Amino acid sequence: MSGAGAILQGSGTLTPEAARRTLLTGFDVPPGTGSLTCRLTFAPARVNGIRNLITLALFEPGGASRGAAHRHEPVQVVEIGANKATRGFVAGALPPGRWTVALDVHCVVPSDVGGVRYTLDVEATARDGEDDPPPTMLGGGDAVPDLGPVRWLKGDLHVHSDHSDGRWGIDAVVAHARTNALDFIALTDHNTSTGTAPLREALRDAGLATIVIPGLELTTFAGHANVLGIEGWVDWRTRLPGGGTSDDDLDDAFADPSDLADLAGAGDAGTTRMVVAGEGDVPVEFALHRPAGKMEATARAIQSRGGLFVVNHPRSAGYPACTGCRWDFDDAPAYADVIEVMNGDWPRRQNDEAMVLWDRWLASGWRIPATAGSDAHGAPAHPDRVGYTWAWSVPEVASIIGSVRAGRTFLSRGPHVSWEAPRPGAEVARATTSLAVRLGGVPAGCLVHFVCDGRLVEFRPVPEGDSVQAFPLHARPLAGTWFRVHLVHQPKVGTPELVALTNPVWVGR
Ligand SMILES: [Zn+2]
Ligand SMILES: [Zn+2]
Repeated sequence: MSGAGAILQGSGTLTPEAARRTLLTGFDVPPGTGSLTCRLTFAPARVNGIRNLITLALFEPGGASRGAAHRHEPVQVVEIGANKATRGFVAGALPPGRWTVALDVHCVVPSDVGGVRYTLDVEATARDGEDDPPPTMLGGGDAVPDLGPVRWLKGDLHVHSDHSDGRWGIDAVVAHARTNALDFIALTDHNTSTGTAPLREALRDAGLATIVIPGLELTTFAGHANVLGIEGWVDWRTRLPGGGTSDDDLDDAFADPSDLADLAGAGDAGTTRMVVAGEGDVPVEFALHRPAGKMEATARAIQSRGGLFVVNHPRSAGYPACTGCRWDFDDAPAYADVIEVMNGDWPRRQNDEAMVLWDRWLASGWRIPATAGSDAHGAPAHPDRVGYTWAWSVPEVASIIGSVRAGRTFLSRGPHVSWEAPRPGAEVARATTSLAVRLGGVPAGCLVHFVCDGRLVEFRPVPEGDSVQAFPLHARPLAGTWFRVHLVHQPKVGTPELVALTNPVWVGR
């Protein structure tokens, strides 16, 4: 092989039937290939203000992931070579053979062209010189020589960069860690963790001790979940929940999974037509990706690798305004470790609704803790309204993950609010007669709310600054109940705002 040459070229129209499906196609990489360039375009970018969204992922022969690009631009160019790759992808040698491009068709809005026009091209460029090194798949953890005592550590568990659809480069994420004095940070780009190793390096170069929690945001067509604490690839392509998009429905639509004619629209009248090739198009032969497992299996696989599964912003807007952002999987996903109740600015409606959902889960007896994260894709518009998660931990990944899993955490826009005794996440004895919280950095005009089983049972004003507030528990039937403390800012004029909250403590049954 010499020079550069097209190894895949195609165009056509994806109809609204293709939305929330993953389409696969293959291309053959010749021996001696030094780099690949994939170019995906789609148009129109928006219809009536709603965005079409198609994203691209690459797999080697044998199926290993070489990265994903969850980006919104209608022209996407991905380059992947021995020593460098577009952010979101993994650099390294390009083994010859049949590679796969996966198009995640998140949203196709009905339009006067019948959906969205796409073009997909892949070009291979010959290697010049020596053999390439094998790909470095997502580096390992740092050695931490002296962890010091357990203490409250501040962290952001949900941040994006330009390794997916963030506007921030890695340097800006470093600035975010510095500005907010973060002890830990999880870079949770959509379906890729290629930013993790560069972020570690950039923090080190900047002289910051911020711990990087490896992670990514599992970005499906029906919900987002943070995967925290494990390195490497996670398959986000799970079966969809019901409502006309389940795999069972697909079985009806595609009697023979290998029958690409259906996909290409050449089937009988009434057959689902996801892809249409018009005059002048070079049709790409797509196959439909048929996810093997449900979300529960995905979560269990993550947990078996030691990862944490966090249901993100469960009450965000859903399809088509924000495709996949709302949690449409199981109503009470018992396989989840944590729920993100505070996402970005708070308070805001989706967070209020997430709190209601959380309380409902807690009311069922499920001891699931909560987190906060900025979900920053760039500089927050209201930095003082963004909340973070504080974890009772030593500065080391496994310890922080363990604390987040156990609820040894509090969520806050700034002030400190932690259980005095017992430690959060712990169960207290039925004979306990009072619970206390330690408050710090409290602004003027705040109240504490003492919440039992989701109900406000006591509130009082608290002094500015630092204090300890005790709540007697006498005369209450305690077995099986849980308690939380909310710090609420009550301005002289305007609506009260939640500014910090503990995770629950539970009373033994
Ligand atoms: Zn999300
Ligand atoms: Zn996010």
